Amino acid sequence: MSHPRCPGQDMRYWKPEDIFIVTCQFCGGEIEFWKDEPVRPCPSCREEIRNPKIDNGCAKWCQHGDECQGRPRDEGTPEKS
Ligand SMILES: [Zn+2]
Repeated sequence: MSHPRCPGQDMRYWKPEDIFIVTCQFCGGEIEFWKDEPVRPCPSCREEIRNPKIDNGCAKWCQHGDECQGRPRDEGTPEKS
């Protein structure tokens, strides 16, 4: 994996606060999120939980944002349901 990362999302600079708990909106269980994970499966109900702190905000201004997102800059946020 030689996926480029923007310095702001490099795990080497992370702090314990960068891992946080999100409550599952489906079953109320707890999901441990890392701050750059957009989605995680709930360990209890297997639903995919979105990271509420990720808004792709970083990618909007970071010059490496397109590489971080792994897609062309112009494509925007895909809406999947
Ligand atoms: Zn759940």
